[in-house]
Amino acid sequence: MTRHLVLLGGGHANLHVLESLADSPLPDVRVTLVSPYRLQIYSGMLAGWIAGHYPLAACAIALDRLAAAAHAEFLCIRACEIETASRCIRLADNWTIDYDLLSIDIGSDVSIDRLQYASDRVAPVRPLQRFAERYRQYTVNGKNEPIAIVGGGMAGIEIACALRVASGYRADVTLLAGRDGIVPTQNSTLKTRLKNALKARGVMIVDEDACGVDGMRVETSSGQHLAAALVVLATGPQAPSLLRGSGLPLDEAGYLTVDASLRSTGSTAVFAAGDCARFPDDGVVRSGVYAVRQGAILAHNLRAVLMGGSVQDFHPQRRALYLIATGSRHAVATWGPWSWEGEWVWWWKRHIDRRFVCRFRRY
Ligand SMILES: Cc1cc2nc3c(=O)[nH]c(=O)nc-3n(C[C@H](O)[C@H](O)[C@H](O)COP(=O)(O)OP(=O)(O)OC[C@H]3O[C@@H](n4cnc5c(N)ncnc54)[C@H](O)[C@@H]3O)c2cc1C
Repeated sequence: MTRHLVLLGGGHANLHVLESLADSPLPDVRVTLVSPYRLQIYSGMLAGWIAGHYPLAACAIALDRLAAAAHAEFLCIRACEIETASRCIRLADNWTIDYDLLSIDIGSDVSIDRLQYASDRVAPVRPLQRFAERYRQYTVNGKNEPIAIVGGGMAGIEIACALRVASGYRADVTLLAGRDGIVPTQNSTLKTRLKNALKARGVMIVDEDACGVDGMRVETSSGQHLAAALVVLATGPQAPSLLRGSGLPLDEAGYLTVDASLRSTGSTAVFAAGDCARFPDDGVVRSGVYAVRQGAILAHNLRAVLMGGSVQDFHPQRRALYLIATGSRHAVATWGPWSWEGEWVWWWKRHIDRRFVCRFRRY
């Protein structure tokens, strides 16, 4: 009997599943990939696109092509509801699809927290595809008008530096880093490197929270008003709303709890990986590094369930390498307590990023 494997989301781990299916198809298994965008933009290269180092096409993986190579049907649509009890997914056009085995890799939403806004000038970094459209509009309408970035994490820093480079150092770029300053959980050497890089690019750092966006102004926690024609929200991850109401066990923050084999703690027919999953080991943070590493285990385990075999556990690495682009051909690397910077780090990052994207573009 033919079984139906549904891959929900074209995230890093599901890319590996598709690659595995392209290289070695599963007999008697129908595969469907559901994702709302045809092109999966690789987040590690987003800042490089903004800075003008790459065209957007070079940062994107065509999910329809990869799905075709994996003998999978591609449904370019958003899923609106997961009904675990009846093993089906409701799609945005009100159609439903049934599954025998489900692999969820839908990433995360951008944390809005208490920020109030009703402005079309606000551009959350996720979904990346929508962010790219908003940024394009900004470049058409308001070239070199002031920009504010909310969020002092690595993504916010990369984007702030890239925006200065993109404007030829003409647009005022303010990074609202939050009251704890930039990368608050990182060590002081890394903080200093990143702060110096931001200063060298001419990014203004404000250690305050953003409270609201009204028209062309951002209000900060001290009551300051900053002019901004574009407000980028890089405020970190938040659990995807799709998971609520699925009937699957979630942690207190709303992420899907999985066991060490990436299987849902509430359904033997559901696996999940990447940002949307809560792995038992707290050392697994929400980053592309772990989502990528989980891909091979996810591919193996889905195959094991469908073909008969034993599942494997994911053993997270203790330390992860992060490469942060800081503007024009400069980047900062960090691994555990160590960090490095320079043009060579930028070339290193470029090599790793391009290799990742090319891996899934060869089909
Ligand atoms: C600007 C930026 C730079 C970053 N740089 C780095 C970096 O250098 N290194 C690093 O390790 N991490 C980085 N990150 C973090 C990294 O992007 C995420 O941790 C990573 O993308 C998570 O991968 P994922 O597989 O969970 O999901 P994602 O890669 O986010 O993919 C999710 C997929 O699910 C789809 N989807 C979403 N909702 C639905 C739905 N309702 N129905 C169907 N499909 C859906 C999406 O369209 C997408 O295809 C960066 C993040 C940002 C924002």
